[in-house]
Amino acid sequence: MAAGPQPTIVSVVQWGGTPTPLPARAQTISHITIHHQGEIWDPAAAVPAYLVRLQNWSRGIKGWSDIPYHYIVAPDGSVYAGRPWQIAGDTNTEYQPQGHALLMLLGNFEVQHPTEAQMHATAWLLARLQNRFQLGSNTIASHLDYSSQTVCPGAHLYARLGELKAEAEKLRLAQTVQMGPAL
Ligand SMILES: [Zn+2]
Repeated sequence: MAAGPQPTIVSVVQWGGTPTPLPARAQTISHITIHHQGEIWDPAAAVPAYLVRLQNWSRGIKGWSDIPYHYIVAPDGSVYAGRPWQIAGDTNTEYQPQGHALLMLLGNFEVQHPTEAQMHATAWLLARLQNRFQLGSNTIASHLDYSSQTVCPGAHLYARLGELKAEAEKLRLAQTVQMGPAL
């Protein structure tokens, strides 16, 4: 995987969302779980507008406190904040996301392929979360590792999970991953 710039995390306020309303289920992070959007992503689409729609759908239709994921990674390598990591995620499937930091990559990776910028940003985010919560590579898995009801995160991304873990480990060893207040 090619080296890339360290992404910054676009905050909820910056993309036009509103904070998670209380009450919400608190958690501490012991695992990191990777998802895909599951819909074909048009590279010309605006991510902030999509996230506003996703937040409204999550609350209005699903009755969840927020977007089900904690971080969203766009094909251009931008990382967007979803629900705060201090709040447990939500799912349509049978696994229990309590204690999991949930990362979602925009796209449908049964059909599309993650971009290199998206892969690099995801590896950086993994490394950052691993450092923050003292987590080894064995705590990183994907949605379908926990659920038989989904193909998420899609075959083309699932095949590269080992590569993501290895790149995150490389970043951690090189001590190039900066910690910031936004996480
Ligand atoms: Zn998923």
